[in-house]
Amino acid sequence: MACAFELEGSFNPAHSRIKIFRFEEQGRFVPYTCTQCAEAWCLHACPVDAIKMNAETGAKVVDEATCVGCKVCTIACPFGTVNYNQSSGKVIKCDLCGGDPACAKACPTEAITYVDANWTGLDKMREWAAKTDTGHSVTEAPSEPAGH
Ligand code: SF4
Ligand code: SF4
Repeated sequence: MACAFELEGSFNPAHSRIKIFRFEEQGRFVPYTCTQCAEAWCLHACPVDAIKMNAETGAKVVDEATCVGCKVCTIACPFGTVNYNQSSGKVIKCDLCGGDPACAKACPTEAITYVDANWTGLDKMREWAAKTDTGHSVTEAPSEPAGH
């Protein structure tokens, strides 16, 4: 809601740049937003150069005036974190609120923090995975031979 209010002026989670993916079988609800990835597939895919990198924050930012709403960037992003806004006919994505993210400020448990990307290196990700892992990995061998 903080994201939606900051960027759209409404307390409507549907307008948020953070989307919650539901894994019903595991009972998990996982928030996703743009990782501001170094590869920036969205930026490179845009045919009209409507997505630029903010040199200060590293955020990949959509220039609404230039965007023609073709949605190529929504296909290019492997994380699905660029979304089409029906009402404007343009795309929306996280822009890090210019370096002062509303989501991080609003989060009461500091589950969202705004830190340097290098801080969340591989070791941190492994630590986090160990805490949240169910003990099963996608590479784990099946307990029964295939076909049984
Ligand atoms: S929207 Fe996707 S491709 Fe673009 S910077 Fe964010 S994570 Fe990377
Ligand atoms: S929807 Fe807009 S930002 Fe995305 S690729 Fe098309 S013109 Fe570029």
